[in-house]
Amino acid sequence: MAGVAAILGILAVLQYRWTTQISDNERERLRTQLRTATGQFRQDFYRDMVTASAVFQVDSELLAEHDWTRFTARYEDWSRNPANAELVSNVYIWDMRAAAGHQELQLDREAGTFIDGAFPPQISKVLKSGPWRAPGGTLRRISWTFDAILPGMLRPVYRFRPGWNTPRDEGEGRPPREEPPPGAELVGVVVIELNTNFVVHQLFPALVQRHLSLSGAAYHVTIFPTTDPAHPIFESGPAVHGDDKPDAEISLVESPFVQNRTPGQRPRRQGDPPPPDPLRQSPVLRRYALTFPAAMIPGRNNWRLAVQHPAGSLKAAVDTTRRSNLMMSFGALVILAGSIFLLFAAMHRTRALAKMQMEFVAGVSHELRTPVSVICSAADNLADGVVDGKPQVQNYGQLIRGEARRLASMVEQILLFSAGKPNSARYNLQPLDIVSVIEGVLRDANTGITSAGIKLERAIDPDLPHVIGDGGAVARCLENLVSNAIKYGATGGWMRVAASTVVGGHRPEVAITVEDHGLGIPSSEQRRIFEPFYRGTSALESQIHGTGLGLSLARKLAHSMKGTIRVESEVGKGTRFTLTLPAADMPTVTEHESLNEPVHTAD
Ligand code: ADP
Repeated sequence: MAGVAAILGILAVLQYRWTTQISDNERERLRTQLRTATGQFRQDFYRDMVTASAVFQVDSELLAEHDWTRFTARYEDWSRNPANAELVSNVYIWDMRAAAGHQELQLDREAGTFIDGAFPPQISKVLKSGPWRAPGGTLRRISWTFDAILPGMLRPVYRFRPGWNTPRDEGEGRPPREEPPPGAELVGVVVIELNTNFVVHQLFPALVQRHLSLSGAAYHVTIFPTTDPAHPIFESGPAVHGDDKPDAEISLVESPFVQNRTPGQRPRRQGDPPPPDPLRQSPVLRRYALTFPAAMIPGRNNWRLAVQHPAGSLKAAVDTTRRSNLMMSFGALVILAGSIFLLFAAMHRTRALAKMQMEFVAGVSHELRTPVSVICSAADNLADGVVDGKPQVQNYGQLIRGEARRLASMVEQILLFSAGKPNSARYNLQPLDIVSVIEGVLRDANTGITSAGIKLERAIDPDLPHVIGDGGAVARCLENLVSNAIKYGATGGWMRVAASTVVGGHRPEVAITVEDHGLGIPSSEQRRIFEPFYRGTSALESQIHGTGLGLSLARKLAHSMKGTIRVESEVGKGTRFTLTLPAADMPTVTEHESLNEPVHTAD
């Protein structure tokens, strides 16, 4: 058992470790999956923005000529896709070089050209703040700037003269230049205004559906402006309660050149020195940026994407799974431990039964031999004429009869036991005069009672109702109880047999008690004495012969007649067995009340 317990303990520790390791791996896997998914969300959004900005790319030549034919062709191509057409609510061009002051143009969707039209107040306001002048160096002059306030994208239109991009002293840590460098002249600004309604109600939900319904868990997605994180512009569902910190958070627009930060590096905050201008540092990047002019970089206001697991956080979700995994595996261990315990208990019982059977065989052979040898020697004496006179012969006759009965009852017990479980069908259950059955049993036991020096007291109600039972089976039960009282109660020299009517449960019954003042039975053994082959310690110690089958058979017989046998006993004081049998038709009586006062007689 100790070995098995140790193995189970080791198994429990291994399972705990294993489950913890699986959970750690699962958490890492989910984190990576989420990182990839948010990246893909951003990429899809970025691709839509960049496509739109490529369509509305206006250079200084186009602006100078106001010839929109080049633009119209690509605009028509792009707006054939209804999703594209809906993405943009309007496009404005601020032509700074127009002769009559600063000319304000806006997109004529029908014609696919730009026409004169005053800017709405929100556009003028944004333009006044000059978002394209945000830190960013050269890149800012040739890229689109995303602005979350609009929301939309802006791009300054520069006219470049030769030598505009030769490196100068615009190094790290210096304030960004407000003025274009000599050689590059700001000639206009293009503004793409996004259709907020479409972005919030169609684009974002579609992206969430495509990328952030992972492994069956619909992540809670929030998109908010960097300037006002408390007021999100989009939420994928009701807020989840859990960690304050989201499981993943990224900016929806990142400069393509500074996106790949070193792992662990914190995102830029306001007030940080501007990052080095990658285009100034690398001629390769500069060439790339010039051939890819639709690149988009974040402005002062950006949208940020925050994602949280529906369980509150990724950690909470993994912990819940881990807890249930642990419970399941420990549950399996407990079942395993229980089964092993039951197996051991069954083995123990089988071994005990085998031992009892061996003792039974030894005991039975001895029990059988004793009456047989007594009968043989008594018969020899009689046959050899050793016995003289009538009283002597009578004594011998009684001796032979007693031993023969003992032998017969033992054989009967063994046969009954080997016949298996008795059932009601085997017996002839009918109304039975219980008083005469008791009297018959006591008459047969009289010799044994007298020779054991026992004083018999009777309290048998002569008006007892009939019981429902089988005469032979009832007599066998009582014989066993009486013979036990003789065997184990001889030291007390007293025995009482009583019978009365009681109401047990919901039917009248007859209770027959056999009481003695003998050895008594310890309470620990009282349940076991009804098991086959079980013999009490005091019976074994006092070397009182027996097979251990009597009570087990008596109880089986009583049960098959819908009766019961119970024992009350105290060591050294005595024992009382009560056999109850259902009464035949009876007048109603109150519970446990005797119908008739028992008549006390004594032998
Ligand atoms: P046996 O008498 O052959 O041992 P039983 O099944 O009749 O078998 O009894 C089982 C055990 O119950 C006995 O071995 C004895 O220890 C205990 N027992 C039965 N009747 C009495 C009694 N009247 N007083 C004390 N012990 C008893």
